[in-house]
Amino acid sequence: MRTEIARIRLEPGTGKAIEVRAGQILRIQQIEGQQCVDFNCFNLHDYKEFMHCGRTRTVHGFNPSKGTFLWSAPPRERAMLYILEDTYGRNDVLFPRCSAYLYESAYGFARHTNCHDIQAEAQREYGLTPDDVHDSFNLFMCTEITENGSATITRQASRAGDYVDLLALMDVLAVPNVCGADIMRTSNFALKPVEVIILESTEEDLARVPRTPILSSQRTPRDFRNPTIKADRELSRDPAYMPEFTNVPLNQVEIEIDLTEEDAARFEALRHAVHGDNDGAALRDIVFSWWEARFLAAKSGAPAIDEA
Ligand SMILES: [Zn+2]
Repeated sequence: MRTEIARIRLEPGTGKAIEVRAGQILRIQQIEGQQCVDFNCFNLHDYKEFMHCGRTRTVHGFNPSKGTFLWSAPPRERAMLYILEDTYGRNDVLFPRCSAYLYESAYGFARHTNCHDIQAEAQREYGLTPDDVHDSFNLFMCTEITENGSATITRQASRAGDYVDLLALMDVLAVPNVCGADIMRTSNFALKPVEVIILESTEEDLARVPRTPILSSQRTPRDFRNPTIKADRELSRDPAYMPEFTNVPLNQVEIEIDLTEEDAARFEALRHAVHGDNDGAALRDIVFSWWEARFLAAKSGAPAIDEA
């Protein structure tokens, strides 16, 4: 049985910065239904670590749902939250937050509720500035990619009581807001309140989270060459700067590889159809797909990468 810690009603036009401790669940729930909720998330003890939509969409696709993680930006790349439950099953990491400029430039409204300004105002409670608002995780937002490759918003059909449970894997400042778009399909042309509930997780909840590998490439400020947060806005050159890029100068060594008959056939198929005369690219393609299959298997909690 989960203990309820807090319950907050978010009115249209508003959002709220909420401290969620590791092991607590943030439930974002429809009251009337059909309302998109934009979401930002920061490491509570180091706001420079924040949720990264690009990383998240690369790993879990455009519509992360139950059983996926929300990841932080490189070079941290840690799982911040786990989507433990999702009763509607449609969320988005394709679209950026809506902004004042969008409503003025595209619709002619000089003043309009918008997610960027709502996020900025909610985050101000914790000393953050409008520049700290990051790309939104858009809950209950229905999007898809058209045949010509552009992203489009479709109507959503979430209902009263639909919810998404986000389990915190580290202490975070979570910032949900009622999306300000009432003139688009995002929330079916109306703004409605939503409810946010914080729950303590149970042992069973925690046992449902797949293990993610902890790798040395997931770096924290301890590992940075420059760990100091810049405190002024002006940019000027550091005269003592000496570049130290990884593995530079790069050395290239030719190696011989024995291909199985199956790999050789795939190589032949790829080398001209896809990569022209660039045999190196065709080979890298095969090696990468091998690596990707094993990496994804490891991340899904299936057998981890072995010593091979
Ligand atoms: Zn919005």
